[in-house]
Amino acid sequence: MPVGIYKRQKRVINCKICGKETTVYSSAGKFCKECYEAKSKKEHRDYNRRVKREKRLARGLKCEKCGADIGKFPKAKKYCPDCRESVALEQRREHYKKNREKYLEYSREYYSKPENKEKHRQHARAHYEKKRIDNLP
Ligand SMILES: [Zn+2]
Ligand SMILES: [Zn+2]
Repeated sequence: MPVGIYKRQKRVINCKICGKETTVYSSAGKFCKECYEAKSKKEHRDYNRRVKREKRLARGLKCEKCGADIGKFPKAKKYCPDCRESVALEQRREHYKKNREKYLEYSREYYSKPENKEKHRQHARAHYEKKRIDNLP
C-alpha cells in the first residue's frame, strides 16, 4: 500500500494517555482529542516557562540588595539567595516589632504558668552551662 494513502487513513486507536477508544486521521495519532489538547497545552506551558527562564538569564537579573547576578537562580525574584535570607530575617524582625504587644502578652501569659516558668529556668540553666563549657580555655 502506498505510504501516502496509509497516512490519511482513519484509524481507531486506544489513547495512549487515557486509554479511550478514539478515531485518528493520521498514522502518527496516538491520543484522543482531549488528551492531545491537554498535552499540547502542557507542552506549550513548559515551552513558555523555558522561554521566560531564558529571557531572565539573558536580561541578567540583579539582586536588589547587593547587585549580584541572580538570573541563574530559578526561584530568585528580587534577591540573591544570601540576601533573601537576610531580607526574610528583617521582615521577621519587622513583623515582630509590629506585633510586639501580642508577643509580650503571649509570653507574659506563658511565664505566668508555674510549670512553664520551671521549664524555662531549666532551659536557661542548661544554656548557661553549655556556654560556660564552650568558653572554657
Ligand atoms: Zn485520551
Ligand atoms: Zn544579594
